Amino acid sequence: MQWTTEALAELEAIPEHVRPMALKAIENMAREQGSVQVSKELVEVAKAKYLGINTGDSRLVKKIAVVRCETVSEVCPGIGCLSAFADRRVAFEEYDRETQLLAFFTCGGCSGRRVSRLVEKLVKYGVDTVHLSSCMIAGKEHPFCPHRDQIKRAIEVNGVRVIEGTHY
Ligand code: SF4
Repeated sequence: MQWTTEALAELEAIPEHVRPMALKAIENMAREQGSVQVSKELVEVAKAKYLGINTGDSRLVKKIAVVRCETVSEVCPGIGCLSAFADRRVAFEEYDRETQLLAFFTCGGCSGRRVSRLVEKLVKYGVDTVHLSSCMIAGKEHPFCPHRDQIKRAIEVNGVRVIEGTHY
């Protein structure tokens, strides 16, 4: 990955103790955008996103959330999702130990009326990835969610990545 001179200067301005993590996160962002070069603008976006300029959080930490089925939540306390995250298993393998599961919320009932509103709020706290719980997509222990595509769109429209699945 190539860095412009201006981007490197921006990187140097990031506190030393979080700089290695910043570098990794910024290069990942560039790759996700299909770029082989890091620009000053990209570093600025990453700083705002990960250094918590909007939230006052000065730590460089990835923040994610899980949305799950309101109906299934009547019979499931969420142990499968939460323990998979704690152990960084299955759909959570890519995350380092610093990653925070900042929210674990239900869709609000068919057809997922609560999702868009809550994701909008989570973006302000730096959440950039939302997992759809396995119960919504796998159709294994519970019928899969007939509204999952609509729920995905409601998340993605906020610029948030969607990952299908949590613990199976
Ligand atoms: S919208 Fe999907 S996830 Fe939400 S309650 Fe209905 S079936 Fe469950």
